[in-house]
Amino acid sequence: MTKKVVLVTGGSGLVGSAIREVIAGERPENEEWIFASSKDADLCDPASTAAMFEKYKPTHVIHLAAQVGGLFANMKYKVEFWRNNIAMNDNIFQECHKRGVEKLVSCLSTCIFPDKTTFPIDETMIHDGPPHFSNEGYAYAKRMVDVQNRMYKAQHGCNFTAVIPTNIFGKHDNFHLDNSHVIPGLIHRGYLCKQKGEPFTIWGSGTPLRQFIYSNDLARLMIWTMREYQEADPIILSVGEEDEISIADVARSVAKALDFQGEVNFDTTKADGQFKKTANNAKLRKYLPDFKFTPFDEAMASTVKWFMENYETPGAVRK
Ligand code: GDP
Repeated sequence: MTKKVVLVTGGSGLVGSAIREVIAGERPENEEWIFASSKDADLCDPASTAAMFEKYKPTHVIHLAAQVGGLFANMKYKVEFWRNNIAMNDNIFQECHKRGVEKLVSCLSTCIFPDKTTFPIDETMIHDGPPHFSNEGYAYAKRMVDVQNRMYKAQHGCNFTAVIPTNIFGKHDNFHLDNSHVIPGLIHRGYLCKQKGEPFTIWGSGTPLRQFIYSNDLARLMIWTMREYQEADPIILSVGEEDEISIADVARSVAKALDFQGEVNFDTTKADGQFKKTANNAKLRKYLPDFKFTPFDEAMASTVKWFMENYETPGAVRK
């Protein structure tokens, strides 16, 4: 069997950590996995990127590293979001091409889709209109990954592709009280409210709908993408439309996992954001009709358990 060396950029984040955990339990003998973080290379710098590729000589790359941030950072630093993501992606693509990497899987997001769109969104609609003005630096840079995948295939025959996950949550997330996504934010706040005996306040009306994917499920699907998926066109990795849930239901699940018995209320002075972003996972289901997603409450319980077990350990929980 020929040996595969799989390099994961952004390897210490939410998704990289999940891939590390999943692969630890099922790694074939002919696969070596390397999880790189910002300590290994400055991916905005071509020479530093080249040195990392020279060191590890990957045959396969899962590219998770990116400049990411919430609404306010995206609005304030559009130029940095554009430049840093474009530079990182350009360096990764060029190194993968130069060194004959057999497969490159990059990660996009549903927030790069057109602001004005119809639902459900699918893989063919990425370029159908401008993204929301607030994150256009990030969105346009990420859209170019899809263009790069097709161009490198057309000109050089490269087998490069991208996945589009919906909202991700799990262990190793960023649990910051103000600047995190909804699930880790609510877990952290709910945990403190329980300790202090205070009511648990959810931001917004609780009515917006989202599709959440557990990081370990996404990890399993990305490993499958790397090994089996052969299209340059991207693939949405998500639970189905029938599993879209409201923020109020998310809050109930968080309260249950924390065994929070107190009052839960909604602060409607806080923004709701987009009402929904419904994505269609028919393409995934065509390839993997029998894939079993972890039930939401079970994934929530694992995430909350990890958060509580690691809360006091210095540096373990990003918060
Ligand atoms: P996105 O809107 O899909 O990009 O992702 P978020 O994870 O930021 O989810 C936002 C939704 O959850 C909005 O409807 C918010 O009003 C609601 N929400 C409720 N509580 C929180 C919280 O503590 N943090 C965040 N980020 N959102 C919250």
